[in-house]
Amino acid sequence: MNILLLGAGGFIGVNLTERLLKDGGHQLTAVDISKDKLEHLLNAPGLNYAHLDISSDEAKIEELVKVADVVVDLVAFANPALYVEDPVGVYDLNFTQNLKVVDQCRKHDKRLVQFSTCEVYGLTAAKAFGLDSKENPCPFNEDETPLIMGPIKNHRWIYACAKQLLERVLHAYRYRDGFRYSIIRPFNFVGPRIDYLPSEAGGGNPRVFSHFMDSLLYGTKPMQLVDGGQVFRAYTYIDDAVDCIVRVIENKNDNCDGEIFNIGQPENELTIAELAERMRDMFDEHFRQEGDPPRPEIVSISGEEFYGAGYEDCDRRIADVTKAKTLLGWQPQYGIDQVIFKTMEYFVEEYRKKQASGMAAIPAVASV
Ligand code: UDP
Repeated sequence: MNILLLGAGGFIGVNLTERLLKDGGHQLTAVDISKDKLEHLLNAPGLNYAHLDISSDEAKIEELVKVADVVVDLVAFANPALYVEDPVGVYDLNFTQNLKVVDQCRKHDKRLVQFSTCEVYGLTAAKAFGLDSKENPCPFNEDETPLIMGPIKNHRWIYACAKQLLERVLHAYRYRDGFRYSIIRPFNFVGPRIDYLPSEAGGGNPRVFSHFMDSLLYGTKPMQLVDGGQVFRAYTYIDDAVDCIVRVIENKNDNCDGEIFNIGQPENELTIAELAERMRDMFDEHFRQEGDPPRPEIVSISGEEFYGAGYEDCDRRIADVTKAKTLLGWQPQYGIDQVIFKTMEYFVEEYRKKQASGMAAIPAVASV
């Protein structure tokens, strides 16, 4: 297949590109505004990289759409800190610019695999009705569960809303014109090449795993639990996720057309407070070396202090993955401890390499 991967340079994109190259038999065109994470793949046979921006290079992207068998759109701002800092930019990229890709696919009659988000589900019904979501799990089903967002003043929800509107537009085009698309809703994928460490990037606000790794490796700050870290997340290892994504792209028997797929590992659920404890213990048990910063403290911080005004958290996200299992024959393999271990291992190995070559930033406090 000739596969056009838009946003191939991000965390999911690079892992997907690696896997598709390994499988072989495809012609891949990887498009991104950054090739940093793709550097190790750029000479691989079967891969072309195009440095293009969907916001400003429409004509060139249209040429690529024309010759593709399937277009996979991964372009997004997908980091909660950004939803709070730059809600207009998040809306613009995640809806307006992505809609251009939809229009090009419609114009040239190409199938589109559109990445969305588990955030479209928003809050659980339990939370919305003032019940304890710990006692009322409310799994999210692609075709049944209502989508519940918080108030407008909490502009975090603009991301979920933009993605939801894009999904609704895709559905409307299928309803009217038979447009061929599939939607993927990722549930907390983690693994190699996710985000960055703030100490190495000179700041920034990545997702939680990177913050905790930063505390463990650099000791610049304690592990901070936003509002006590009592919300739940279920982490999915990127290899499991990619295995499912490839099945959606392949679309055997066309059984993914018009379908939305949750991709997640509902058995891997824990609270953020539990994640912090487990990472801290795992670091001591498997990765700690002489000279590393001391075991960090775990402290609580308010959402407003951590993100600024306009933040509201998702209380719980349990993916109902029945569809991916039955329609695609997919079965995730990695349990929560493996997911945490393998992702930590990636960060630690990268850090030790930098340390050995004198490229790592200096830890704030070294252990004695
Ligand atoms: N969070 C935290 N400490 C951090 C960063 C994030 O407690 O240093 C929390 C955040 O408020 C949310 C959860 O961790 O409850 C997961 O946040 P993340 O940014 O990874 O993305 P999300 O899963 O919300 O999309």
